[in-house]
Amino acid sequence: MRMAVTVDDLPAHGELLPGVSRNDIARGVLRALKNNGIRQVYAFANGTDIADEPELIEVPRLWLKAGYPLGNHTFSHWNINAVGAAEYIGDIDRMDALLRTLLPVSPEVERRRVFRYPFLEEGATQERRDAIRTHLFESQYKIAQVTIDYNDWAWNDAYTRCVVQHDQPSIAWLKAHIMAEAERSVRASSSLAKLLFGHDIAHILLIHVGAFDALMLDSILKDFRARGVTFVTLDEALTDPVYQIDPGYLYEGGRGFLEQIVEARHVDTAGQPEPTMYAVAQLEKVCKAPTGN
Ligand SMILES: [Zn+2]
Repeated sequence: MRMAVTVDDLPAHGELLPGVSRNDIARGVLRALKNNGIRQVYAFANGTDIADEPELIEVPRLWLKAGYPLGNHTFSHWNINAVGAAEYIGDIDRMDALLRTLLPVSPEVERRRVFRYPFLEEGATQERRDAIRTHLFESQYKIAQVTIDYNDWAWNDAYTRCVVQHDQPSIAWLKAHIMAEAERSVRASSSLAKLLFGHDIAHILLIHVGAFDALMLDSILKDFRARGVTFVTLDEALTDPVYQIDPGYLYEGGRGFLEQIVEARHVDTAGQPEPTMYAVAQLEKVCKAPTGN
């Protein structure tokens, strides 16, 4: 199986742990990527955290200095359905302007016109969806779809809660189970691609720049390699003809590329393997803060 790895929410994803900086987390993720020989890993970046804490510009700088490119994840990480199309487009362009200021750091910044929709929401009305896509294509953007997503963000949130609560058994449980969950999601996506297209495709994995990702990514990537995954660049993955498909599906709530096609075409997925064993709602209960006072 071919897979491109992509990382969202640079410079800041999830809560910070005591004594761990955003730079530390990014370095941990970079180390895992380098250890596994993975090239051209896009980090999809936002600007609001940098506007609030200007020193966070060091995180995208680190990414570029590691030889990797940055993509556009909007400046404000708004939900497309919560703001007007013109505002959203302005926010994309605002992020582009911020990324452009990093050109002196690395020529990789020239590759920045690749877009990842925040929350994997592409627009619930035809006008909004079309307006954003038209702007992206007129500005020479490619859309970085997602076909593999093991909800690493929910594992990351659980992990940070457990560390703060010193809940060692729960931390051990998270560490022991995330690898199987990631594998499950890979197998399910491969199977679904074969159902939809009659053959497997070049997949695109979504992870985030989070503390648990920094901790577990090296093991997860090694495990993927041991199971026959070949890592390709996002540019290579996006040459797969499937990414020419516009699912044309109007929805609210995040959807991966394959799910959008399933729903748009009313494909019967009975008998397909489940992509997850641990639902987000279940992970949210792990080290959940006590309610009330
Ligand atoms: Zn995001």
